[in-house]
Amino acid sequence: MRIAILSRNRSLYSTKRLNHAARRRGHEVYVIDTLHVARQMGLLPKASGSRMPRRLPKVDAIIPRIGASITPQGVAVVRTFEVHGILTTASSEAIAQSRNKLESWQLMAHNGLPHPRTVLVSDPDELHSAIHEVSGPPAVLKILRGTQGRGVILAESVNIARTVLSILFRHGQDKVLVQEFIEEAEGKDRRLLIVDGRCVAAMERTAPEDDFRANLHRGATSRAITPDEQTEALAVRAAAVHGLGVAGVDIISSQRGPLLLEANSSPGLEGIESVTQVDVAREIVRYLERKGQAAGKLRNRR
Ligand code: ADP
Ligand code: MG
Repeated sequence: MRIAILSRNRSLYSTKRLNHAARRRGHEVYVIDTLHVARQMGLLPKASGSRMPRRLPKVDAIIPRIGASITPQGVAVVRTFEVHGILTTASSEAIAQSRNKLESWQLMAHNGLPHPRTVLVSDPDELHSAIHEVSGPPAVLKILRGTQGRGVILAESVNIARTVLSILFRHGQDKVLVQEFIEEAEGKDRRLLIVDGRCVAAMERTAPEDDFRANLHRGATSRAITPDEQTEALAVRAAAVHGLGVAGVDIISSQRGPLLLEANSSPGLEGIESVTQVDVAREIVRYLERKGQAAGKLRNRR
């Protein structure tokens, strides 16, 4: 197949690994900058003074790697490919709804998937009762579009929560999620890589000493694990309800069993591949091949 990897930076680990894995499996691969594509498609104004970007290659399939800072543009680009019948490892709708913690939480709640108790606050006067509803203080405050642990804050008291909320509101947030703090997790969580309804790799992450967030970007350590059936089934369902064929699902252990935190549509591959030694990039390319076969776009079966 002719595959385009949408990525702002071709030298990122995940981009390089996907490029390599697809070439090894005999595909013609183009790494294209998502924002250049957006300009080419007329979804963004052409940057003044810059040359007209090269014409887009004709492709059968895309692998979007959309960074959080360009979610709206990335979603619009993926949507445009979709309307032209081009296959994608992640639909525009799935990327949009998994990026928004409010929409994601609504999906989990609507589908009866266990998650920490959560309340949406859009008025500072609601904060006090929201914290009590989630059995706090302490409570976790989350902005709707944070990633890599940014915008996930532990408030030890109502007063601290009030200060944090006022800062967030002053800096452009108009809604914040107030969430039950899962203290018994002791700074650990699990990241399961789900591809096509199956867990292909999993790790447990442990937050650094002075933090409760187990994001690798915050200096968490990790080890490979084989998830128990309940955890794996929960992650598979989380990917499904978000409409994601490829997802990095975060799960936290609590006294009432595993709870879902989120499903990421462009999960980083570096940490999980190095700790598990699983070729996740190859699994993603093979998933795209199966979609290609089903759509009659892949001639030589492997
Ligand atoms: P992000 O999109 O920024 O990664 P997450 O919801 O995954 O946001 O939260 C980041 C990390 O913070 C998680 O991996 C977990 O370690 C910790 N965390 C998040 N929510 C809670 C919670 N309710 N209780 C305890 N720890 C949490
Ligand atoms: Mg996370």
